[in-house]
Amino acid sequence: MKHLFKVMWIFAAIMLATSSSYAAKRIHWRIALSWPSTLTPLSSPPIKLAKLVKKMTNGKFIIKVEGAEKTKSALGVFDMVKGGAFQMGHTGSYYYIGKDINTVWFTTIPWGMTKAEQDAWYYYGNGMKFMEQVYGKYGMLAFPGGNTGVQMGGWFRKEINSVNDLKGLKMRIPGFAGKVMAKLGVSVVNIPGGELYTALDRGTLDALEWVGPGMDIRMGFYKVAPYYYTGWHEPASEMTFLINKKAYNKLPKNYQVILKTAMKAVSADMFMENFADSANAWAKMKKEYPNIKVKTFPKPVLKAMKKATDEIMQSYADKNPLFKKIWDDQKAFTKKARKWSYMSRYYYLKASKEVQ
Ligand code: CA
Repeated sequence: MKHLFKVMWIFAAIMLATSSSYAAKRIHWRIALSWPSTLTPLSSPPIKLAKLVKKMTNGKFIIKVEGAEKTKSALGVFDMVKGGAFQMGHTGSYYYIGKDINTVWFTTIPWGMTKAEQDAWYYYGNGMKFMEQVYGKYGMLAFPGGNTGVQMGGWFRKEINSVNDLKGLKMRIPGFAGKVMAKLGVSVVNIPGGELYTALDRGTLDALEWVGPGMDIRMGFYKVAPYYYTGWHEPASEMTFLINKKAYNKLPKNYQVILKTAMKAVSADMFMENFADSANAWAKMKKEYPNIKVKTFPKPVLKAMKKATDEIMQSYADKNPLFKKIWDDQKAFTKKARKWSYMSRYYYLKASKEVQ
């Protein structure tokens, strides 16, 4: 009998220890978004991430998604994650070039890498290493958070025939592209996505760029600004997951792996979702929205954009050693990768078009 009691005691102790360690592993996080939670595909990665992580941990790791409609601070995600108010954020790294110019590298730069090139740089080049270095200074970890692929050059009320036509235009265009446009005489304004249509409609803006046909058409920009230009400035815009490092370090090791794996999966998924979305929108655009005039900027305008981009990049490289280091690294990687991009994708598309 005594022996039986002893066994029962041990059993109870094990049960208690197991249940309390399980209880300790129940974790609640919050993720702040730079977009309204309904603004898919941009909001898809964090929403899908929360679902995946919950399932993969049997409901033990809960991430509550809070869109910009709730936080009222679309562009405050950096500070909210840095300060620990939110354990995670989903945002565009280049929104924060005012805080740190090197955040630009993790979204896209004008005339920069394609998505395939950029992915290779992130995961099999030095991209992620630089990301860790730049965000580490702010007590954060950063990870790729979904890519839009090539973005369209934006919606304009009037046709752009020369560089002169850009002068005095009020345009929403973030990141380095905004600096390029400013150099060409554009008055650049950064307005959160949710407020863009109203700004265009009221004349606060003459032009804006957003993403691509899928997302853009839903926003209704074509009703006010029918000239729709092909892209040059955001060849592969990557969203970014930000994580408060202290919060991350407190996670059990297996949850860290689950989180990282889920982030990679939902990021890959966003590109697929957005590509399908844009392909569908483009296919019906001519018929359903005949007033949209698709244009490519004239060559002298493109050349002026390229020249301004090079000058701006050089001016930052001159005063910021880390900027120069990342720029040199990206240029060297792109030089190699671009040759393969031409030999593979470019020639395949060209060949398949020729036999159509
Ligand atoms: Ca954009």
